[in-house]
Parts: sequence; structure tokens; C-alpha cells
Amino acid sequence: MNAKQPILFLSHGSPMTALGGDELTQVWSGISAQLSKPAAILMISAHWNTRLPILGGSAQPETIHDFGGFPDALYELRYPAPGAPALAQRLKKQLTSAGIATGIDASRGLDHGAWVPLRKLFPAADVPVVQLSVQPDSCARHHFALGAALAPLADENILIIASGHLTHNLGEYLRGKPRAEETRAFRDWVHTHLMTGDSETLLDWQHAAPHAAFAHPTVEHFLPLFVALGAAGPKHTSEWLGGGWVADALAADNYRFIQAK
Ligand code: ZN
Repeated sequence: MNAKQPILFLSHGSPMTALGGDELTQVWSGISAQLSKPAAILMISAHWNTRLPILGGSAQPETIHDFGGFPDALYELRYPAPGAPALAQRLKKQLTSAGIATGIDASRGLDHGAWVPLRKLFPAADVPVVQLSVQPDSCARHHFALGAALAPLADENILIIASGHLTHNLGEYLRGKPRAEETRAFRDWVHTHLMTGDSETLLDWQHAAPHAAFAHPTVEHFLPLFVALGAAGPKHTSEWLGGGWVADALAADNYRFIQAK
């Protein structure tokens, strides 16, 4: 019988986290120690934005260094995990039959939202990874439906990881402003509703959450959370896995969701 996998939401930090030594590195090492090895990983990253959901279909996805102005050591890092083209094809069919038009990009590699945390969670790079894009033009409910259609994967020993950020106001980050009150209020609101499993309230985040537009001036780093919540399903259990703050400006919380039996 296949092991049941949890569903993860990760705040992926700055690309510099790949070089280690920060709080997120420690959090991910702790998560890594608690995970059983899955048959495959489906990774939803904030750094692949498309109009329709697209699955990465490469047999050997390249490591994409989709950032500029960082130390050379970062550009030398690779995450050579294999892809899973057959799984990508199957997921395309699964999503299409759920009424969600989906495509495949056979040449897409893994962006830093995917490979930076994966290097810490599965350092051996021996678990096949399929990446799925985010649709910034679509709402939270679209991403929730996407996750719901993918929920059966957890019973097939496939680990779903949604990689974004709990808050992502890059302007505050670049100004070096420490933990704005607005950011903290938004983070605490999201955390409270995640821990009580109140996905319905979270889905209305742009209207219901305090300072939503301040915490996420653009939405692509928050939408992966809804894929995770859709996959977690009703009556899931939530666990906070730690996080902290990136440069004292971006809330970097990480969560595990377990589907109800
Ligand atoms: Zn990012």
C-alpha cells in the first residue's frame, strides 16, 4: 500500500537561502527529517506564472537561475533531480477531466522557488519532480480547485509542495523596513485561519484579511497556498513548521497539512 503524503506550503525566502546558514535552512532541515521519501514531487512555485496551468514535462529539468545580482556561488548550484514526463501527462488528463484546461511545457526547468527548498528537503535529488505553474490572473478559488483536483496524489505517495511566501512586499524588503505593523497583522490573520482550518475565510483574503494589498502587492507568492489548501481538502489538520522573517521584512512561515482520513 502507498504511504500517505502530507501537503506542504513553504515560504521560499531569498535565493541566498540556497547558500545555507539562515533560519529557513534550519526549518527546512527539520522538515526534511520528518518526511518519508515520496515516489514523486509535484511542486507549485510562485516563480512560474502562466495564463493557464502548465506542467513541466522535461525528463531532466534544468536548474533555472532566475535572479540577478547574487554571488557567483549561487549560479553554480544545480538541483539535478529527474523529471517525470509520464506523470505530467497523467496529471494533465486528471486536471482536464476536472474541467481545468492544462498544458505541458516539455522544456521547462526548475526555478529557484522550486529548487532552493528542494535542495534542503531532498538533498540527494533522487525524487522525480514535476513543476506546476501559478496563474496570477486567476483567483484564489481557481487555485483551490486546482489543488482539489490534485488531492488524490497524497494517497499515491506523491508529495505536493506549494512554494510561495506568507507575505511578499518586496518594496519593504528593499527599503530594509523591519516588520511593518501591516505585515504582522496580515501574517497573524492568515496564521490563525490556517491553524483553525478555515479555508473558506482564507479564500476571501483580498477582502477579509487586514492589509492584504500591502502584504502582497502582487499575488503570485500567495496563490500557491490555495493549491495546498485545495489539496488538503475539508477537515484537514494543519501544523506550523516554523519560519521567521526574511531580512526582518517578509514573513516566512511554513506549514504541513494532512488530509482527513
Ligand atoms: Zn520568490
